[in-house]
Amino acid sequence: MIITLKKNAPQEEVDHLYDEFEAKGLQVNIIQGERFNVFGLVGDTSTLSDRDILANEWVENVQRVSAPYKLANRMFHPEDTIVDVGGIKVGGKEKIVIIGGPCSVENREQICRIGKEVKECGADMIRGGAYKPRTSPYAFQGLGYQGLLDMVEARSETGLPIVSEVMSADKIDEFVENVDLVQIGARNMQNFDLLKAVGHINKPVLLKRGMSATIEDWIMSAEYIMAAGNPNVIFCERGIRTFEKYTRNTMDLAVIPILKEKTHLPVIIDPSHATGDWKLIEPMSLAAIAAGADGLIIEVHDQPERAWSDGAQSLKPEKFAELIKKARVVAKAVGRDV
Ligand code: PEP
Ligand code: MN
Repeated sequence: MIITLKKNAPQEEVDHLYDEFEAKGLQVNIIQGERFNVFGLVGDTSTLSDRDILANEWVENVQRVSAPYKLANRMFHPEDTIVDVGGIKVGGKEKIVIIGGPCSVENREQICRIGKEVKECGADMIRGGAYKPRTSPYAFQGLGYQGLLDMVEARSETGLPIVSEVMSADKIDEFVENVDLVQIGARNMQNFDLLKAVGHINKPVLLKRGMSATIEDWIMSAEYIMAAGNPNVIFCERGIRTFEKYTRNTMDLAVIPILKEKTHLPVIIDPSHATGDWKLIEPMSLAAIAAGADGLIIEVHDQPERAWSDGAQSLKPEKFAELIKKARVVAKAVGRDV
């Protein structure tokens, strides 16, 4: 970290700052300039806040040299992290994982039926929302705990691991007991209490990108989970809000190579929420695989027109099966399998 001090800073202020940084275990190198004095801090600066340092009236500028995250940082962990989700390995250089299922669990029969269909198509895991974050309080809010129990039944009938979204910390025990991969939704990406709470569990976490989150915000959210003790975090890009109206969100594919460079965690793509349109799911999925994604999470419904949520962005099973076939071809081209 490079801190520029005003030249007229009183010596006692300079000494005080110097001592403060040294007390934090940092090495402080001073460069005396004509107009400014510069502190070069060497060591772990991830616990320092740029803005807190700027609060000092004698500080002119603060510039970070290294990223503010440590546990998620590839620099300190060069190997890819491979996250085990109920026996399915996510990340690394080989298999690309496919997750399919309805936006919401509607009843036990529905999730078991669609679960079997996505398995037949070649999916590795089943998704299904039991607690639903809906824009309108009048929209279907999910079946709650019963929905999780229905997901458990779908797992027993198919043998596939299950993914579902937790919306509040008070329900975490239900997820630890029943779910293989705990999803943090876009709207909760910066719910720091919830992030800390899933940091304490021994289940992997699927961390969706907040709809207005920068990549650094998102990595910092992963850092929260890891700092609380859970190293098993998977990033999921689900589109960000832009001025564009032809798609529900704007799918940001560049996150794949960027996250892979900056972090060691797996990255998967959700083209359903990213586009909002079932017709765009296949091309965006293929593009994601070509760009290096470790997996896809796709909404699948056998009667999208009757779905209780997100039918317009759900693929019918036959289209999902076709997508997986094409995904195999693209995966092969980048040296991976589906
Ligand atoms: C979902 O996966 O059903 C969902 C609500 O996703 P997001 O949090 O990305 O909107
Ligand atoms: Mn949905």
